[in-house]
Amino acid sequence: MQPGFRKRLLQWYQRHARSLPWRSKPEPYRVWVSEIMLQQTRVEAVREPFQRFMKRFPTVRKLAAADVEQVLEAWSGLGYYRRARMLHRAAQQIVELHKGRFPETREHALNLPGIGPYTAGAILSIAFDQPEPIVDGNVERVFSRLNAFGQDMKSVSGRNAVWQFATSHVQDGHAEGHSSSALNQALMELGATICTPSSPDCEACPVAMDCAARREGRVDQFPRVQPRAARRERTYHFLAVRDRRSRILLVRRPEADTSSLLPAGMWELPQADSAATAGIRIRATGTPATRKHAIMDYRLTLRVQPGVADGPIRPTSNRRWFTPEEAERAAIASATRKLLHALGRA
Ligand code: SF4
Repeated sequence: MQPGFRKRLLQWYQRHARSLPWRSKPEPYRVWVSEIMLQQTRVEAVREPFQRFMKRFPTVRKLAAADVEQVLEAWSGLGYYRRARMLHRAAQQIVELHKGRFPETREHALNLPGIGPYTAGAILSIAFDQPEPIVDGNVERVFSRLNAFGQDMKSVSGRNAVWQFATSHVQDGHAEGHSSSALNQALMELGATICTPSSPDCEACPVAMDCAARREGRVDQFPRVQPRAARRERTYHFLAVRDRRSRILLVRRPEADTSSLLPAGMWELPQADSAATAGIRIRATGTPATRKHAIMDYRLTLRVQPGVADGPIRPTSNRRWFTPEEAERAAIASATRKLLHALGRA
C-alpha cells in the first residue's frame, strides 16, 4: 500500500458510510445482535428485523429472560435459526457470568455461544474501539484485489494471509491514531458498496492508486477461489391440511430430530411420509404447489399438497391449528413461510 492508504480510506468512509440502524448507536448489545443477523444475510434484509428485534428485546437482560419460542418468533424470516438459539444462550451467559455486560476481552467473548473470531473482532473493534481484526467476504475480496493475491482465498495459507493483512491494517492504524472501529468498517464498506464481487466501481474507489489488480488490469481475476462443488438436491413432500375454519395444521419436530434439513424445533407443515403414522389423513382439494429453496449446500424441492382433514386431528403441544395471522407470527422457518405464501396465492 502507498503511504496515506488508511487516510484515503477513512476520509471516503466518513463521507459515504451508509446509514444503518445499528450504526447510529454502536453499543455492544446492538453491534452483537446486528453482526449475528448479518451472517449469511444481506444488509437490506436485516434492517427491518433488527429494529423489530430491538423493540422487543431492547437489552441483553430482556433477551436473556425471554422464552426461546419468543426469540425464534422475533427471528422469523431471517433463517439459520441456530443463530437465534445461540444468541439467546449467550445472552443468558452474559447475565449470569458478566453481570449483563458484554465481555471486553477476546478470550471471554470467544467463550460465548455463537461467537467466533469474526464476530468477536467485530464487537470488540466496533463497540469498544479495540484494534482487533475482522475478516469477512468483503475484506477477503478487497485484500485479494489490492494485493493481486494469487492464492486460493479459501485455502489455509490464503486465510492466514488475509488475517495477517487485517491485523496489521487495524494495528498499524491504531498506532497511527486512527479509530479501529472506523478502520474495520471502512474496509468492509468498501467491499460492500464499491469493490463488489462482479462489478467493482474502480473509478469511484478511494484506494484505486493502491490497487495492484487495477494497475495490472486484472481486477476480474481476483479473488482466486476453487470452484465450489455443485449443490446436492433433495425433495420433501408436505401436506397443507385445513380444518373447517380454514386454519392450517402445523407440527413441530423435537430439536434433536435431524430427519429433515429444515430447522428442527420450528413450526412446519407435516411431512407426507410421516403424516399417516401420526394419524394425519387428508382428502386432496387442489393441485400441489412446488417451490425451490436453498439451505446449506442443498437445493431443496418443496412440494405441498393442499387438502382437508379426513377424520379428527387432536391438537398436542407439538401439533395444532393456526389461523393465517397466527402462522405469520409463529416461529417458522423461511422454507415453510415460502410454502404458506405459495398456498395463499394458489
Ligand atoms: S481499484 Fe477497483 S478492484 Fe481495486 S480495490 Fe478499488 S474497487 Fe477494488
